[in-house]
Amino acid sequence: MAERLRVLAALLSARWRRFSSRQSLELYQQRRLRVVLERARRVFPYYRDGAGFELSDFPVLDKAAWLDRFGGLNDRGLSLDDCLAAARDAEARRTFDATLSGVGIGLSSGTSGQQGVFLTSAQERDRWAGVMLAKALPNLREAARVALVLRSGGALYEAVQSERISFRYVDLAQSPDAIAEQLVGFGPTVLAAPPQVLDDLAARSVRPRPRLIYSIADVLDDEVAARVGSAFGLPVGQIYQASEGFLGITCAHGTLHLNEDLVHVEREVLDAASGRFTPVITDLYRSTQAIIRYRLGDVVLPGPDGCACGSVLATVARIEGRADDVLRFRDATGTEQPLFADFVRGAVLGAPAVSDFRLVQRPDLGLRLAVRPARAQASGHLALQRLLQANGLDVPEISGMPWPVESPLDKRRRVRREA
Ligand SMILES: [Zn+2]
Repeated sequence: MAERLRVLAALLSARWRRFSSRQSLELYQQRRLRVVLERARRVFPYYRDGAGFELSDFPVLDKAAWLDRFGGLNDRGLSLDDCLAAARDAEARRTFDATLSGVGIGLSSGTSGQQGVFLTSAQERDRWAGVMLAKALPNLREAARVALVLRSGGALYEAVQSERISFRYVDLAQSPDAIAEQLVGFGPTVLAAPPQVLDDLAARSVRPRPRLIYSIADVLDDEVAARVGSAFGLPVGQIYQASEGFLGITCAHGTLHLNEDLVHVEREVLDAASGRFTPVITDLYRSTQAIIRYRLGDVVLPGPDGCACGSVLATVARIEGRADDVLRFRDATGTEQPLFADFVRGAVLGAPAVSDFRLVQRPDLGLRLAVRPARAQASGHLALQRLLQANGLDVPEISGMPWPVESPLDKRRRVRREA
């Protein structure tokens, strides 16, 4: 009962916390930041010896640095090794019920380097669920059946169950047939799933009939969005959610907004012309683990200011994948220049006969390309060459490669740069 009240409270406060201006949002963020940063100096051993309570007094940490300091960045004194052991054990059993010192332990996907370990208390999970529902459901008075297809769910996603709202977690590790069958059986009104699952459902004759669809946990390509949208007869929204936090969601007007009411976002600008940036986030509510100036690995393309929905939360045109996967090429002067994966995706998927591709850049800047169907290989190759030439970049050696073996558990990475 207490749980349900907490969920409801989070739900309502998120719904009603409307900001009339950027200024009022920023004031609110500053108030929350003060609470979070003062507590961080008291509670987390890693921050104890530091000075100052301004955000800039805290170091920016990427995932590897943050994991290195794991024991000093949680309020239970848990070590990374103990948490990893407990989480892997639970994951092997696919029960996802690992707990130590009263907190749930979750693993993030390890697509780039180390697997992250995330700790959440029961209150944090309830809050997450409440806020997610408040933001994802257009009308809380209507009954809703929410299905969430994700890599590992467990404790984080099972907090909500009431007469009006039921929540079903579907394990992405199952076969596409099993996932489709469970979804059809459950009959969700709201479906949130990775784009590859939505794409698979779109191709089936028997599929669930939700009223709202969100793509979650992976880059949503325009092509996939269009295919899924036309199969379901609905626009496809996005939930920008990572183990590090609930970072954004599409509004009723189809615009992806950052959840700046939950997470403070600093921008490390990668490209001044487009404003593409890597988010450095500070969670305004998490308490078990410090998420303070945590650098996400994503490339985010900002959207225009303002939205017809009236929200002052910053807009995002597109999440483009990982910062590690920005390709590098030499220009006419021999200087290395970045080429964002989004351009590569657009060019190669737009080439005649290409339905899908994988591209890997080697450390020597050479490229390896696999195209589906295989007969479109030359077409993909040519599109890539033209893209580089149009951008004034040297075309390196481009060779073919076999289609890589991929697990359904991995995020799909069409464009990848080898370290
Ligand atoms: Zn909006």
